[in-house]
Amino acid sequence: MNVKIDRELCIGCGVCTSIYPDLFDMDENNEKAIVKNIENIDESLVNEAIESCPVGAISK
Ligand code: SF4
Repeated sequence: MNVKIDRELCIGCGVCTSIYPDLFDMDENNEKAIVKNIENIDESLVNEAIESCPVGAISK
């Protein structure tokens, strides 16, 4: 699974990092979310993050 964040859309709300902190993190400036490189991604948590992102910035 290739989870991506559209940095143009991301408003840095932190919802995705709350839902799935093992996968999502904030960048060094704390402005945009990033996707960490991990094994065994939990697709149900990714789906929850996709559905919860207020600007639809997460895709897979
Ligand atoms: S939930 Fe969406 S807008 Fe909020 S930090 Fe994550 S990707 Fe960015």
